[in-house]
Amino acid sequence: MKKFIFMLIPFLLFSFNQKVSAQNTDSKQLKAAVIIDDFGGGTGGVRDFLEGDIPITAAVMPFTENSKAHAEWAHKNGFEVMVHLPMEPKRGKRSWLGPKPITVDLTPKQVRQRVKEAIKTVPYAVGLNNHMGSLAVENERIVRAIVEVAKENKLYIIDSGTSPESKFPEIANELGVPLLKRDVFLDDISSSSHVYKQMIRLAKVTEIKGKGIAIGHVGVTGKVCSVGVFQSMAEFKKRHIKIVPVSELLSEQLIEKNFVPK
Ligand SMILES: [Zn+2]
Repeated sequence: MKKFIFMLIPFLLFSFNQKVSAQNTDSKQLKAAVIIDDFGGGTGGVRDFLEGDIPITAAVMPFTENSKAHAEWAHKNGFEVMVHLPMEPKRGKRSWLGPKPITVDLTPKQVRQRVKEAIKTVPYAVGLNNHMGSLAVENERIVRAIVEVAKENKLYIIDSGTSPESKFPEIANELGVPLLKRDVFLDDISSSSHVYKQMIRLAKVTEIKGKGIAIGHVGVTGKVCSVGVFQSMAEFKKRHIKIVPVSELLSEQLIEKNFVPK
């Protein structure tokens, strides 16, 4: 019996060490999220991302012909889904917003109603980010109504960063809703070499901060965006940066605030 216990001790020590080192490597693991916006709208790049093997997070426009289909397709293939909420910009065409956008002429009650409806048209969504919105995100009344509905539905928020004066961070913090901000836009210039360059920027931000978030698009720039993102994966591997769904970057906040997705 004694002999057996002695034999057991090195094994127990070994497994304890294994556990500790696993925890250490996990906390040191550099993680980046790549959100791809405008699913539900344009079709360029949709198949490349949704049939691809990079764990992007799919932000789906509500109220469009393909909202439900794209959200279900993404979910079926294991991708995380977000609601990509159209919000009024300072400049730009109304048609860029799609149906039922959040505009500053709405009352908070109308905003709440619209956000609730939007969530219903995007099944499996666990988060929300803004489409455009440079005007509406600066409006405290509007943003508060959105954050309240996000909280009721346990959706985390990503501030797409279309205005430096966005009220999202302040109000999400006040109401206890997990939030992160976008670090890098991938396809503000439509070429795959630009997207590649921006992905390297994401890698550098991630190395400095320990985590990073980039946003790209399907639609008009979708094809070049997918090419640039896929080409950059070798570099991410070399730098030991893991691409993860957004919720994995937020995991501590989600647990702490009881936002764990169903
Ligand atoms: Zn968008």
